Amino acid sequence: MNNTKIWLSSPHMGGTERNYVQEAFDTNWVAPLGPNVTGLEQDLESYLGHEAQVGALSSGTAAIHLGLVLLGVQAGDTVLCQSMTFSASANPILYQGAIPVFIDSEDDTWNLCPVALEEAIRSEIEKGKKPKAIIAVHLYGVPYQIEAIRTIADGYGIPILEDSAEALGSSYKGQKCGTFGDIGVLSFNGNKIITTSGGGAIVTPTAALKEKAIFFATQSRDAAPHYQHSEIGYNYRMSNICAGIGRGQMEVLDAHVQLRRDMHDFYVDVFKDIAAVSVFTVPNSDYFANYWLTAILVAPDAAKGIDREALRLALDQANIESRPLWKPMHLQPIFEHYSYYGSKVAETLFENGLCLPSGSNLTDNERIRIKEAVMAFFSKE
Ligand SMILES: *Cc1c(COP(=O)(O)O)cnc(C)c1O
Repeated sequence: MNNTKIWLSSPHMGGTERNYVQEAFDTNWVAPLGPNVTGLEQDLESYLGHEAQVGALSSGTAAIHLGLVLLGVQAGDTVLCQSMTFSASANPILYQGAIPVFIDSEDDTWNLCPVALEEAIRSEIEKGKKPKAIIAVHLYGVPYQIEAIRTIADGYGIPILEDSAEALGSSYKGQKCGTFGDIGVLSFNGNKIITTSGGGAIVTPTAALKEKAIFFATQSRDAAPHYQHSEIGYNYRMSNICAGIGRGQMEVLDAHVQLRRDMHDFYVDVFKDIAAVSVFTVPNSDYFANYWLTAILVAPDAAKGIDREALRLALDQANIESRPLWKPMHLQPIFEHYSYYGSKVAETLFENGLCLPSGSNLTDNERIRIKEAVMAFFSKE
């Protein structure tokens, strides 16, 4: 039987990407910038709606960094950040010499807990420093509690940097993720919902902010015939070649979101009679998730030898990749000495959670292999 590796999430080309890249070669737009970059930005702007302004960058991490720069975060400032996330959400805080303060998750969306967030804001203000920004993440494509987080942010006058790296194609009450923050961030890394091989974008509510972001991303060149600089610059723009891949990927984005959602339905069906497992699902119909990765929680049962790690190893034996959830930032060696507000929600999710193969390119045969491996694991005594 075919036993090739089943990946968590691998690139899935639609077919037309090559045409855009070929065109870039044919017209010698191999240098950075060019028509594909402008085209991808326009495609994203019309996809996101809500008058979003999009600047294509070299990565999602670069977009988060520039977002902090645009929000005026400086050395010594405090930035609140969801603890349960990929380290790329938090590292740019350190790039700026600012101080991260980590916040627990809540059980419904696995994202920022409003109660812990407000406690953190109050306590940091009491200590004498109002936080400069809130980094909120839509984990695995499930939107955070949009209204509750916005109410708190506005109540204290703190801007939201919306890390939508995993949530292109997700929405809340019909509005696309990426457009809820004072600044939004997208990623087109190789494992994301669409890919440009590597890339990202910054989403801003105004053309002026987009212009400023692009200014910073292209070495902060002042208007002069020579190279003149009065601000720190970065080399964060996307290349015209990468953007060509992105233009082709935009043509299949909605189809691929549907395929990821089909994978989620598949897992709901696989686990429907397995009491130890719950499949991470949106709390209600206001939320629309792209289900970038389908994640499950495994209730440990020592007597039966069942827990998240045992399931992961069993899948690995069958050459099926799965991965624990993001290890919370406040537990990471690089971040563990910073403040943390909340209890043990993120920690418990990390202990019991597992991400399963969720690519839009998984075949029927691969689904059968996954189902068989899961059934074999849970049928043992
Ligand atoms: C992937 C990811 C990023 C970083 O995006 P890159 O394009 O890989 O730099 C940031 N935040 C989250 C939550 C991510 O999943």
